[in-house]
Amino acid sequence: MENFRFHNPTKLIFGKGQLEALKTEVPLYGKRVLLLYGGGSIKRSGLYDQVQTLLAEADLFVVELGGVEPNPRVSTVNKGISLIKEHNLDFILAVGGGSVIDCAKAIAAGSHYDGDVWDIVTKKVVPTSAVPIGTVLTLAATGSEMNGGSVITNWEQNDKRSFGSIYTYPKFSILDPQLTFTVPRDQTIYGIVDIMSHVLEQYFHASENAQLQERIGESILRTVMEVAPKLVNDLENYAYREAIMLNGTFALNGILSMGVKTDWATHMMEHAVSAVYDIPHGGGLAILFPHWMEYVAATKPEKVAQLGVRVFDLHTEGKTEAELAAETVAALRAFWTSIDAPQKLADYNINDEQLDLMAERAMVAPTIGNYVPLTKEDVREILKRAL
Ligand code: NAP
Ligand code: FE
Repeated sequence: MENFRFHNPTKLIFGKGQLEALKTEVPLYGKRVLLLYGGGSIKRSGLYDQVQTLLAEADLFVVELGGVEPNPRVSTVNKGISLIKEHNLDFILAVGGGSVIDCAKAIAAGSHYDGDVWDIVTKKVVPTSAVPIGTVLTLAATGSEMNGGSVITNWEQNDKRSFGSIYTYPKFSILDPQLTFTVPRDQTIYGIVDIMSHVLEQYFHASENAQLQERIGESILRTVMEVAPKLVNDLENYAYREAIMLNGTFALNGILSMGVKTDWATHMMEHAVSAVYDIPHGGGLAILFPHWMEYVAATKPEKVAQLGVRVFDLHTEGKTEAELAAETVAALRAFWTSIDAPQKLADYNINDEQLDLMAERAMVAPTIGNYVPLTKEDVREILKRAL
């Protein structure tokens, strides 16, 4: 393994009826709250009214900003920063999915920086402090509820970038699986794919001797694959929602990346596709991941074969690593297809017109990924195969 330090400061508050904790948690950090939410799902479900009531009971001053987009925009981040400054707010409460939480993190870091927040998102400037945030999670997918990462889109520049900071970890995150009952079937599927993809991005690391991290990752994949087919046909089942929610959080809270050089090339390619076509993150990942895996297996099949044996229960007798790797790719694709995830970019009406722009946007460094570092030509080829 590589040397590492592990420090995850987020307090998880998990289970039925835990929303009440807002009354005691928020006042620990602030008195003047920016309440941030998305396009209206929390109003339809009644969660908005519940949150407002609890904040009022705790005597907190509240300014709200709704309308955070899926794939949140830097323009919305800037609106939030203006509200923080105008009303002298000292806490941000994000109620929603990964998009709302990511937006909160960028507002939090940007409010303590005098320049353009895009400098932070593009990692030109490293945050040295941030407004504290807390979250109420309504969609299991990103793990943003227990990490410091944030993904923000600059629509004018067709650019989607991510940054992370120790200062943007939520102080607390309230996870009540019941709050995810209303997540529609398609978003539930995208969430499942995102969770599995987060494990895979870290499983395909470029370090030695990380058995524990790999075995934890395999456990998450096996658990999600056991529950997901049942959940997509029984959306209000507490036990299934509970399992997916906890697995989603642990898939990206830092334990799988302890001491390893993780990959993340598929996420960078997906961000490039979303930056040009604004498609759902999990949908893009379902299309791209099998193609990435097939491409890297041509030069490095061993980890792909290991995944197939340990997670997809492939039989090894008489098979080469390359054959096992090919079976693994087919098994992953078949699993995602079985829960109705999209399979090709054409499913989102994407053709080859913007291939070059997408390949260029994916290249946030001269090569991306660590399991097999990819050049722009490699990326273009993977995107082309995914059409
Ligand atoms: P999302 O974009 O937050 O939400 C997707 C949709 O689901 C929205 O339309 C939202 O509606 C709806 N929704 C959320 N909760 C709902 C509920 N309880 N009932 C009904 N509808 C609900 O989805 P996400 O997958 O969580 O986040 C995706 C973003 O996170 C992408 O930008 C992705 O790149 C990023 N990401 C971040 C990380 C990280 O570590 N920070 C990791 C991976 C991906 P409303 O807007 O109306 O609420
Ligand atoms: Fe993701």
